[in-house]
Amino acid sequence: TLPLPARTRVAVIGAGQAGLSVAHHLQRRGLVAGEGFLVLDRGPDAGGAWQHRWEALRLGSAHRVNDLPGMAELGLSFDTADRSRAARDVVTEYYRRYEDAYGLQVRRPVTVSAVRDEEPLLRLDTDHGSLTAEVVVNAGGTWGSPFKPHVRGEEAFLGRQWTTVDYRSAEDFRGRRVVVVGGGTSATNILLELEGVAEATTWVTRRPPEFVEGDGLAAEAGAAAVAVQDRAAREGRALPSIVSGTGLVATPAVKAAVERGVLVAHPMFTSIEPEGVRFADGSFEPADDIVWATGFRAELGHLAPLHLREHGGGIAVEKGRVLRDPRIFLAGYGPQASTIGANRAGRIVANQVLAQLA
Ligand code: FAD
Repeated sequence: TLPLPARTRVAVIGAGQAGLSVAHHLQRRGLVAGEGFLVLDRGPDAGGAWQHRWEALRLGSAHRVNDLPGMAELGLSFDTADRSRAARDVVTEYYRRYEDAYGLQVRRPVTVSAVRDEEPLLRLDTDHGSLTAEVVVNAGGTWGSPFKPHVRGEEAFLGRQWTTVDYRSAEDFRGRRVVVVGGGTSATNILLELEGVAEATTWVTRRPPEFVEGDGLAAEAGAAAVAVQDRAAREGRALPSIVSGTGLVATPAVKAAVERGVLVAHPMFTSIEPEGVRFADGSFEPADDIVWATGFRAELGHLAPLHLREHGGGIAVEKGRVLRDPRIFLAGYGPQASTIGANRAGRIVANQVLAQLA
């Protein structure tokens, strides 16, 4: 990676959909990549979190992946991408071409460990030295912060435990009895992949899954879920789970799996024992593996020195702007946490960043 400059006007942490979209709009409004704004990403390659996702995941397996602003001008679209290729390969390739074509000069791999207040500037500590910025846009996503609830007895479990982030391939589970926890698309995708490979699968969800019709996120369900996220973000509360607001998309593959009896949800177990999980009614399910597909939290640990958290446990954010500190923005956070939301974040955040610099 090129050496980092000692200062930049705007530091963007993360080169996923949100960070790239912000960078694109900053550039369109006249800031120069590498000087006016600097994008830092800890991943080894382009692709944001997508580069780390498992091989079997395909684009559009549940939700649409929206194109980045300005991608059409390059003749690239996820809608027409080859669906037989792994999503991680397609997204990595398209983002790389996008970064190159627009000269976004993403610095990687660079990990930001802390952002500190040096009034009037902000200092970013990284594994490649430190630099100052007038404004920081955090677009770090959630992949680095998988959420796993604590369940009594889990320390004594003799099998293996995984989160969505650890999941690589169904082959790791061949011939094993697997309990998959979680009510979202990751859980159902993994269950379908394990069919015929694992010896047995058991699906466990905290509340009964609600399947919604359509081949994308139903517009009303999506809008309602975004509104719920937005309210929590504005009030500085911890963000609720997204799937609780959207429901699960009943793709043809999901519908067929429900009919085959592969997607039968059981209520959450109440304890974990060395050889499996115990349910509230006393029944026991033996397990060799537990896969926790139980969602993510925004990765914000490096912002801790700024003391942005409210009593409600979250950071109060309105349209990407942190209410406690006008120099800090969270792009792709809460209501913006989808590829379409991240795209919108780009324009909204870039406009406010320019206003703040002025
Ligand atoms: P990311 O893509 O996670 O990018 C954040 C980047 O910031 C990463 O490269 C990370 O390495 C970097 N970073 C983080 N912290 C630091 C740090 N301290 N220093 C330096 N770099 C840092 N959404 C859809 O719209 N459609 C889908 O089909 C879809 N499928 C999904 C499937 C799965 C399994 C999951 C988990 C999510 C899916 N999503 C989907 C949601 C998806 O996460 C978002 O849509 C979007 O890709 C997130 O973009 P982002 O830029 O916010 O985050």
